[in-house]
Amino acid sequence: MSETVFATPPASPQAGAPDDRVVLAAQDLTRFYTVNRGLLRGQASVKALNGVSFELKAGRTLAVVGESGCGKSTLARVLTLIETPTSGRLFVDATETTTASAGELAPLRTRIQMVFQNPYASLNPRKTVGQALDEPLAINTSLSRAERGEKIAAMMRTVGLRPEHVARYPHMFSGGQRQRVAIARAMILSPAIVVADEPVSALDVSIQAQILNLFMDLQDRYATSYVFVSHNLAVVEHVADDVMVMYLGRAVEHGPKAAVFGKPLHPYTKALMSATPAIKASERRVKIPLIGELPSPLRPPPGCAFAPRCPYAVDRCRQEVPQLREIEGRRVACHRVEEIEG
Ligand code: SF4
Repeated sequence: MSETVFATPPASPQAGAPDDRVVLAAQDLTRFYTVNRGLLRGQASVKALNGVSFELKAGRTLAVVGESGCGKSTLARVLTLIETPTSGRLFVDATETTTASAGELAPLRTRIQMVFQNPYASLNPRKTVGQALDEPLAINTSLSRAERGEKIAAMMRTVGLRPEHVARYPHMFSGGQRQRVAIARAMILSPAIVVADEPVSALDVSIQAQILNLFMDLQDRYATSYVFVSHNLAVVEHVADDVMVMYLGRAVEHGPKAAVFGKPLHPYTKALMSATPAIKASERRVKIPLIGELPSPLRPPPGCAFAPRCPYAVDRCRQEVPQLREIEGRRVACHRVEEIEG
């Protein structure tokens, strides 16, 4: 089925511009899982997320980057309140979720929504698109059936779908159209924050740019803040204001996109960037090979987790965990940045 694209209607007068309000803040968030290693070896703790902190302002996009297994999807589930952090603090609209009662959490859940990688899995195949979009409105608002219908039709148009297709089921749409439906469902309650976990990686390359542009149009229109989880640096460069590079549950480099993409400082960021093809010759980087695999989070290496793969590792790296520190307009967790750059 072909992708149907309509021009996005002009922004409404109340469309928001980015402002300085912090809508989402994480302080030292951790998420550990206990796993059974068999009768003789007992239990072990997997530190899927290990001390992550950031602030996200209204209308801005934080991109979270890293290889599969780096903790970015765990972070997405903790931010959307699907999972509770093991420790640390999480604030949505200045309300601390980690200490909030069930009654206080309920309205916050509508403020933060998620878009998953696979729209087919996130939509109920037995419900029409209209039903999928109506459900959050019926549960969370006092709108009448007719008002909900109008809102659904408007949202269908906004995401580039025909309103008359509300009676169709998910399987009747193309992959790109289904992701548009998933985005419409996430946006229907006007959330302050959308967490998108690899939202274009299951789509054809030809459709990816259309969906990324839709995300950006919606942000311009509603000043929605995004946490955009992706392993694809080309996607991140397209959408991000700030970038956080993660490795084995920790942030290793975090700062404005211009700083991180303009001059990556952490050896892992450098390796990731050098592996991304650049179209312009002037932007091509010296290739730094990423040797070996991401270590198992069950047996993380002592000291810097990147040491077994890092061409600059010295004894100190294998003994002491590097902490994030401010260098050249971003935060970097590496003992040797100055020496490497000097
Ligand atoms: Fe490499 Fe050492 Fe820096 Fe870790 S701390 S990234 S091992 S130089």
